[in-house]
Parts: sequence; C-alpha cells; structure tokens
Amino acid sequence: MGEPRTKVTFGEFWRSVRHRKKRYTHVASAIIESEVFRLPALTTVERIALYLHFPFCVERCRYCSFVSHEGREKDIPAYINTIKRELAERAHGQRVSSIYFGGGTPSLLPAGHLADILSTIRSCFTMDESAEVTIEANPGTFDGEYLKAIRALGINRLSIGVQSLDDGVLSLLGRIHNAAQAKESVPIARKAGFSNLNLDLIYGIPRQSIAVWRETLHDTIELGPDHISLYSLTLESDVPMHRMIARGDVAAPDSDLAADQYELAENLLPTHGYRHYEISNWAREGVESRHNLAYWQTEPYLGIGAAAHSFIDGRRMANTANLDEYLNACLQDIPLPPAFDEIIDPETALSEAIIMGLRLCKGIDPSEIRDRFGIDLAERYGGEIRELVDLGLIEREDHILRLTRRGRLLGNEVFWRFLPHDHELAGALHASPVPLESPSYPPFSKGDWE
Ligand code: SF4
Repeated sequence: MGEPRTKVTFGEFWRSVRHRKKRYTHVASAIIESEVFRLPALTTVERIALYLHFPFCVERCRYCSFVSHEGREKDIPAYINTIKRELAERAHGQRVSSIYFGGGTPSLLPAGHLADILSTIRSCFTMDESAEVTIEANPGTFDGEYLKAIRALGINRLSIGVQSLDDGVLSLLGRIHNAAQAKESVPIARKAGFSNLNLDLIYGIPRQSIAVWRETLHDTIELGPDHISLYSLTLESDVPMHRMIARGDVAAPDSDLAADQYELAENLLPTHGYRHYEISNWAREGVESRHNLAYWQTEPYLGIGAAAHSFIDGRRMANTANLDEYLNACLQDIPLPPAFDEIIDPETALSEAIIMGLRLCKGIDPSEIRDRFGIDLAERYGGEIRELVDLGLIEREDHILRLTRRGRLLGNEVFWRFLPHDHELAGALHASPVPLESPSYPPFSKGDWE
C-alpha cells in the first residue's frame, strides 16, 4: 500500500463533531420531562428505530471499550425492570420500524426476559408488522433451544459476534469462544429458523496476517450468512490490548495491512453475492440492515438502557453509562438527568447527513439534501466536490455523489471537507487518511462515546 495512515478513527472523528460545544446548545431543564428518565417527551416523532442496550458479558474481551460489565449477572433482573420502566416512560405512541438488542451480550438474557421486554414494547409502541428485530449473540452463550425460543418471540434477525475464525486471533482478542464454536453457531441458527443472519468480523488485528484474514473470509463465505459486517480493530488507551502493545508483548496494528485486508474483502465478497452497501457492510440483495440504515440515513432512533443514545427531533441525547446510576434511578425513584442532551444546529445536521450519506455506497442525492436543508450542494461545496473528484475520492454519476473505492478506503480525507468550516479537527483529519472502522453507527452503546 501507499503512504502510512495515521490512525484517526471514525469514532474520534464523529465524537469531535458531537463535542463541538459552540454549535450544540444544551437544552434547558424547562423541556417537557418524563418522571425518572429526564428526557423530553417524544411527542412529534411518528416512526423510530428502537435500540436496547444490555451491558453484561461473560468476560471482557481485551480490545473492548463498549459499555459492558462482567460478573454482574445478578443485576440482570433489576436491569430488565429498569428498561421496561424506561420504555413505558419514553413511549408516546410512536411507530417502531426496527428493534435492536445490542450490547454487551444480549444473548445472555433468558428468553423469558426477552419475552417480557418485547411484550412491554408491543404494549407501549405501535410495531410495524414487518419490523426487523435483531439480537446480537456471541458464540458460546447460546444453543439451539435458546435460539428456537427467541425466534418464536418474533426476533427475526441474528447478529453473531464471530470476529475471527482463527483460534490464535480469537485467543489474542480474549474472546470466550473458539473458531469451531463460531462455525457451529451458523447451522444452529439456521435450524432454529433464522433466515436473516449477520456475522461480525474484525480485521487489522495484530498477528492476523493477510493469509489468516483470507482464510477467515473464505470460511465465512462458506458458512453462507446473509449479511457480513467488517470492523477495523480500534483500541482505546484503557483496554488491555493497548497495554500489551505498549509493553511490547504484541505488535501494534498495522494500518497498511488493515487497508490491504479491507481491499481483499471488497474484492472477494461481491464475487460471492454480497453487495457492498455501506463502508463496513455487505449483504445479499434485500437483507441490508434496516435498523442500521436508519442511523446512516440520520433518521430518528430511541435508545433505551445504560449508555444508550437517542436522536429525536434534531436532538441527540444519552443515558448515563454508569450502570449503578442507571439502576439506582429506578430503584430509588429519583430523576436521572441525561448524560447529555443537545440540540444539533442546522449546519451540523447538514454535515452529518452528508457524511453519513456518503458512508452508503449508493451515495447522496443532492436533491434530497436540497429538499431537507434548503441547501444547494454544488453551490455550498462546489470547490470541495471538484477537488475530491480530481483526487479520485468521490465520483458523480448523473447527479448522485458517492465515494469511489479509493474514497471508501480514505473516508476521513473526504469527510473533513464537509465539516462546518471552523471545525478544530479538520486539519488533523486532513493529515490522517485511514481506513475507517465502523461499528454500527451511531456509537450509542460504546464506551468511547462517553
Ligand atoms: S467485545 Fe462484545 S463480547 Fe467482548 S466484552 Fe465487549 S461487548 Fe462483551
């Protein structure tokens, strides 16, 4: 590969947008508030994607900075009660187009608890008949009986955290499962009735050579999932693997190798029927993740649970990431102020819509931007667009703008140009073209956003 790529991740990039305090206005406490979860009553939104966060895991993986805890299973019943209460308080007749049980490890929840939550959702909200209902599951935490039971509840999409199909890599990551268990989980899921199956994989991992990655990709294709998500390893400074690297026990991730691995996937997956539809996501025709599409299309979503984020009516809000604080608010019936509650100004909203839209391989339609924001993209960003076309990072087909293959690899090189002009990180991003990691946006449940 060409030039070395300094690691500025999409998480850092996006966090920097959110932290632009000058452009966000903290909402005064005079807003309509619910009783315990002091977020605004969501009266104007008709249709939402619903996310529920479960911050419990068997063991913490060495690379993980998500909001999750090991050894706190005893808190699960209280947590279920708390999120049921939060659901009831946030519900105002909205229509739910998708539900996503994320974590953490939601497959640690007994089927009875999931039934309880789904019944609360059905009684508080209006569910689309064809709603996509996803649960994340980690190999080693479920069997066929469990999957059959949760499929019968109406959960119709399973996202399995495979991460790698190489035992050495899985062990380095600190996963609780091995490659054989990950492989076995796919036929078990099919037998249980899951016809919409996603597998998550990570690339850019130390000790994961291109040959190891190629084998993982081939084995994944052989397993025949409907959807494949590929994430680049991102290490926050407080995770064990970061310390292992700092001590010299493990080599640092190689961003050039990660770029090669991404390109390999980009070449290979379409030849096996997987259409690249978002920077980090491939799917067979018609089974793109509807829930995640809501994020990329900057549609409203409601997040429930500790660390969950919401985006409603031009405002972004988050619950506390502190599990005890979250549980106590309910137990003691005390108000829980949001960790943040911000109005997104129109300029930032425009910026988000362009950047998130460009993550989608279909690109953005300037006429939609004009209808939504009253902005002529060619007038507003004509110079930037011409330059990006000249650099081979975006292309124009008819009037649609989209990233080229090179642009997908060097996304930040494109995105910084669409930030509001006084953005303090623009220069750093300009200097830091990188392949982007892309945990399902938005990072509502991820620790690096707290
Ligand atoms: S990576 Fe996933 S399974 Fe591992 S600790 Fe984090 S949330 Fe849990």
